[in-house]
Amino acid sequence: MFPCRLKCAFLCFLLLFAAGCVQAPHTDRSQFIMVSRSQTAAMGQKTAEKIKQEKPISKDPALVGQVRGVGKRISEKSGTDYSWEFNVIDKDTVNAFALPGGNIFVYRGLLEMVDNNAQLATVIAHEIAHVKARHGAERMSMQMGTNLLGQLAQAALDMENPKVARTFQQAYGITSKVGVILPYSRTQEYEADKIGLILMAKAGYKPEAAIAFWGKMMEKNKGKQPPSWLSTHPPSSRRLNKIREAIPEIKSKYYRK
Ligand SMILES: [Zn+2]
Repeated sequence: MFPCRLKCAFLCFLLLFAAGCVQAPHTDRSQFIMVSRSQTAAMGQKTAEKIKQEKPISKDPALVGQVRGVGKRISEKSGTDYSWEFNVIDKDTVNAFALPGGNIFVYRGLLEMVDNNAQLATVIAHEIAHVKARHGAERMSMQMGTNLLGQLAQAALDMENPKVARTFQQAYGITSKVGVILPYSRTQEYEADKIGLILMAKAGYKPEAAIAFWGKMMEKNKGKQPPSWLSTHPPSSRRLNKIREAIPEIKSKYYRK
């Protein structure tokens, strides 16, 4: 039998977990999110302002126009009410990132690498998908949740039978390192790929452009140091296969010229 205090700790965690459970768009995956939309949007906005002050923001009308044009088309189909804003960072890094609340930054280096707007749409739609599915907030919440569980385990350690506490801590170790945190980012990546394909198709970009784009990224990744975007978005044949498999249904359901 678990001692009462430990049972109580479990119950608290379960209640907290239930309170933070939502469903991801388009995939209906259960997500655990403990921070509100307005909280994360405010943090995203603050960070974006800082980035705009500290990084060289491009004023090149062709580049900025390209990113804003593609970004507007996709964000209009995103089904969100975020105030989307798209900027180009004038550096030859191959990178792009999104902040909660709708600020998207694309580096000039990435723009120089894509062959056309449909390939750029692959990246922008993927980033918009991370924001729409609130992946940053989810990651934060998982971290907060496992920290809390760690604190509860610690409380149990101090107060209760060391044997029980050890079992609990082992379970916590497995939960925080293997069971919860690590696989999530891969899950989120696949989810952002899928939602991204839907958004680009809705915006009138052929989803097949994603295959060309990721194929190109895999080629670039061969042998040398991968571009920074790729270290957090690793291209792989599994990823490419998943995208390839998803395209026929998404195209027939969502693609409008
Ligand atoms: Zn991603």
